[in-house]
Amino acid sequence: MYERFPYEAERISALLLTHAHLDHVGRCPKLVKEGFSGKAYMTEPTRDLAELILGDSVGILREEARQKGIEPLYEERDVERFLSLIETVPYGKEIELGDNFSFRLQNTGHILGSASVRFKTDDASLGITSDLGNSPSLLLPDSEPITDADAIVIESVYGDRAVDDKETRIPVFRDTLKEALTKGGAVMIPAFSMERTQLMLYEIGNLMSAKEIPPVPVYLDSPLAISVTEIYKKYAKDYFKKDVQGELAKEGDLFNFPFLSMTRAREDSERISGVDGPKIIIAGAGMSHGGRIGMHQIRELPNKNATLLIVGYQAPGSPGRLLQDGAKRIRLNGKEVKVRATVKTLHGWSAHADRDGLLSYAESCLPRAKTFLCTLGEPSSARFLAQRIHDYLGVRAIVPEGNETYEIAGDKVRKIK
Ligand SMILES: [Zn+2]
Repeated sequence: MYERFPYEAERISALLLTHAHLDHVGRCPKLVKEGFSGKAYMTEPTRDLAELILGDSVGILREEARQKGIEPLYEERDVERFLSLIETVPYGKEIELGDNFSFRLQNTGHILGSASVRFKTDDASLGITSDLGNSPSLLLPDSEPITDADAIVIESVYGDRAVDDKETRIPVFRDTLKEALTKGGAVMIPAFSMERTQLMLYEIGNLMSAKEIPPVPVYLDSPLAISVTEIYKKYAKDYFKKDVQGELAKEGDLFNFPFLSMTRAREDSERISGVDGPKIIIAGAGMSHGGRIGMHQIRELPNKNATLLIVGYQAPGSPGRLLQDGAKRIRLNGKEVKVRATVKTLHGWSAHADRDGLLSYAESCLPRAKTFLCTLGEPSSARFLAQRIHDYLGVRAIVPEGNETYEIAGDKVRKIK
């Protein structure tokens, strides 16, 4: 992460940012620090979310560097310079990058503002999906296929996994919440601040207003997630799917309901523990690896009436994964905690297309696409997806290695280095 980029940053004339997840935007200010001064293209919501996420990470990186005794990855001034290079573009508009070279962004339904890119010259066109959403999403329109590219670089994060049961996710969520709240204890939901938190708020609000779950206090206890939710609200009218826009016109605010408190200040967060009876707490970090959820877990996990609801991927070794795997004791913020609470995992809330979603996305890019290049995730999942694209769709699918160079000419793709 700290090493120099393997190319000369000052020679790059344009940067295209597909979405604001940290594994995509995280090193943009470093590129600026190494000399990049071209234009940075992205959608408007991606710009707002990137500004927030980078502002949040600068302090964390400074602290990490101080502990390691090294120079920070980048500083505030690099973030500011990066932000000053941004040019926002809407979905669907062809943007000229140079003589006979242009691109267009399309919705991928992954997170707010997320986009794929289709590049075009006179004799070739290339699509890059970046992360593809788990369509249909509750909030965002379905990912749009790239139907005018000869070759497509397709993501393969869940290329070998069927991760979801989207049809049952809401009834299962409702029944699990009902059961948990009946016990009278706290329900803790560790959630990543972007997309997952907003889905949770939206669905809890829906269930409460339909009286399908009892009215109990709900806390969004994360300053970052509160700010992200504000950005979701700002762009809901233009970026959410049609039927949700109808709801928005009727209700005015999709992420607020009578029993919700947004606790930005630490004092307000600390007051949550004094509220007796059933309650729902949504807080970061998503894998219980820090943040305010740790504080709630230290207090609530020993309580047999409490419930921990896991709604996202938990990396091996993370506290969230240990809890998911049934740990009876866990170390959180340096404290040993006994686990008597119920721990449940809910499926169907992933923001990534799974193996069938990826295959049907690839199919929707035919007949123009003649070659797929599968990247991202484990090499085994990229190979699995490539095999399925080849077998089921009858087109060429490649798993490129790092640092390889391919040439695309018409519908021919060949490795040149
Ligand atoms: Zn992503």
